[in-house]
Amino acid sequence: MDVKSQKILIAEDDAPSRIMLRGILHDYSNIFEATDGVEAMSFLARNPDTALVLLDYLMPRMDGLEVLTRMRMSPYLAHTPVLLLSGAAHVDLRTRALKLGATDFATKPYHGPLLRQRVANLLRIPMPAPAIDPESFDYEMFERSTEDGSGIAALELSDGHFKFLYASNSCAKICGYTVAEFAELSKEDSILPRVIHPDDYSSLRQSLEGLAADRKPFCETLRIQRKDGSIHHATVYADIFDGAVEQLICHAVVVPIPDSTDKDVSRTKPLFPGKDGTDALTGLPDRISFFRDTRKMLDENRQEKFVLIISDIDRFKVVNDLFGTRVGDNILMQFAARVKSYVNGRGTFGRYESDKFCCCMPERDFDLNTYLKNQTDISSTLDLRYNLTVHNGIYPVTEPDIEISQMCDRAKIALSSVKGNYIQRYAFYDESMRQAMLAEQQILNDMHAALENGDFVMFLQPVYSLHFDKIVAAEALIRWNHPQHGLVSPGQFIPLFEKNRFITNLDHYMWEKAAAYLAEREKNGLTPVPISVNVSRMNLFNTNLPQDLLNLLKRYRVKPTLFRLEITESAYMDNPEQLIQATTALRDAGFTVLIDDFGSGYSSLKMLKDIPLDILKIDMKFLDNLESSSRAAVILLGVISIAQHLGMATIAEGVETKFQLDFLRTTGCDNIQGFYFSKPLPVKKFERLLMESPILI
Ligand code: C2E
Ligand code: MG
Ligand code: MG
Repeated sequence: MDVKSQKILIAEDDAPSRIMLRGILHDYSNIFEATDGVEAMSFLARNPDTALVLLDYLMPRMDGLEVLTRMRMSPYLAHTPVLLLSGAAHVDLRTRALKLGATDFATKPYHGPLLRQRVANLLRIPMPAPAIDPESFDYEMFERSTEDGSGIAALELSDGHFKFLYASNSCAKICGYTVAEFAELSKEDSILPRVIHPDDYSSLRQSLEGLAADRKPFCETLRIQRKDGSIHHATVYADIFDGAVEQLICHAVVVPIPDSTDKDVSRTKPLFPGKDGTDALTGLPDRISFFRDTRKMLDENRQEKFVLIISDIDRFKVVNDLFGTRVGDNILMQFAARVKSYVNGRGTFGRYESDKFCCCMPERDFDLNTYLKNQTDISSTLDLRYNLTVHNGIYPVTEPDIEISQMCDRAKIALSSVKGNYIQRYAFYDESMRQAMLAEQQILNDMHAALENGDFVMFLQPVYSLHFDKIVAAEALIRWNHPQHGLVSPGQFIPLFEKNRFITNLDHYMWEKAAAYLAEREKNGLTPVPISVNVSRMNLFNTNLPQDLLNLLKRYRVKPTLFRLEITESAYMDNPEQLIQATTALRDAGFTVLIDDFGSGYSSLKMLKDIPLDILKIDMKFLDNLESSSRAAVILLGVISIAQHLGMATIAEGVETKFQLDFLRTTGCDNIQGFYFSKPLPVKKFERLLMESPILI
């Protein structure tokens, strides 16, 4: 196997350090992350073919030394190279770790080239091929390394039956048997149909067969039929190991969903067709039933104060794309089960629409923190390598006589005020939100007229070279010269226009302005200054974009090299494949492509790995505390060094202070754009600036 595509696990609880490490190892394609020791062990249990573990010494739940000890105890992980990460001061620790079997060390802060060399050396160490021998397989150790309550089982497919090779004690507990009973039962071929609910059995079997044939791990929520006949919801994660023996061994982690022991759950069974006002997938009351039940509850309890909550899973479409609709469905079922168990008879609940759930309950019973906590661990329970986030809009029912649908609208208004906010996960409705909504509505009403009347204008913000102290380019930024509100910033209307797609018209309008400006300078014999324009993701995914742009430039006789395109990092999150295609096509057509707001999203490094780009614009907002945080400085250094290694130029955006500027000069950053040198300017003022300042030719 190619060294660069071997599995590497970074076990490190500090997110910036993980980012840094990934950056340093950017050309390794199979890097995984664990944020604490338990997660690391759980990953290694499923991936004994991991070629290298970068192991942080200090981590929550299980520290690096304990992980190391457990690895060395396991026949499959005993020889896996471990690079221990620690602070420079920990000399004693290093001796201890060496005794425990660490292969090498790296000290923080990391020295990129040194670390890369260490990793390369370690990957060259030949590793005994991972082989699993069911006889000596240390399942107990793996079991200890998973969280309490979950069980582990290894299955073997023989003669068309799935047989247990091993089932941990907690599996017996989950299924309601004693360990001895379960061990006896495990010998039978028919154990699976006995412990899995009949309606879920065939789907599980199908997934297991698929796993055996296609080696695709799966994750499924199903019902366990316990010995006493009660039903327990559980999530099964199954993965495959190539054994030293002939058979394929499937290693399943069964994670019971908290509070899901419920005899009635079979009636609200996920796969049952929705009838009598229930939702087909989750079995929760549908929206109409929720409206009806809630109306009744409010009318019958006039003295009581209520809250109505709408919860929305973020970017659920991405989850479906990444993991498939089956996992998506499982998440929805889990979510539904949690809403139901939280309300627990104290109010009403339902599925509002696709990935939105609603509930209404007395204010005195509603504890926001518990409600939010109930949602946060869904991704870890399902063992998704994806951070599932949920946003909540809460309407304290101040006017109990309005329609329930109106109450939901208010909760949704509150919800939309925090949507996309990664820190704030909830908002309470208040009247000012409604006013803001109305103001938004006004913007939407005015937009067409504004475009026709030429009320949108182009501002230009210069980009300076730090090497030459000259202007090297400019970015075209839109402003709305509104007849009543004056100059309106794009932050106030672009997000709305992205939603209603008007942004596609606006982008074309701005591109035309930029092309006309470049042509005008050329006509007047002035030094050309490359202009970059912003391309919204909606335009980006139009397959005719390269041709449309070439036609535009041809019309104005402008060279594509002067016309640069900024695409934002978040477009990658939505559709990586399409973004790769779109940027490749644009670069093939001769355009320079910039990645905008780098570092503001979640997939920055992944995107860099996948997509060749020309210029990296580093978002300074994520380094707000540069002055007080040495970590921020390290990240910035790391990012710039990554860009240099990838042959990309860098622009630091949003440079406001002399401190930032002085620091950037020491990092090797190429260019800066920011208020420190100049705000975005109307074209006339920009022209004046160009006349007064040197331009790099
Ligand atoms: P962007 O493309 O990242 O543009 C840079 C933004 O940072 C601009 O905000 C600019 O005024 C601001 N900025 C520059 N230097 C500093 C600084 O030192 N400090 C601070 N705090 N801010 C600085 P602006 O003009 O409000 O634009 C906001 C965003 O709106 C842009 O971010 C871009 O994503 C979008 N946008 C602007 N014009 C267009 C357009 O024509 N089409 C599209 N699709 N989006 C546009
Ligand atoms: Mg931009
Ligand atoms: Mg930007």
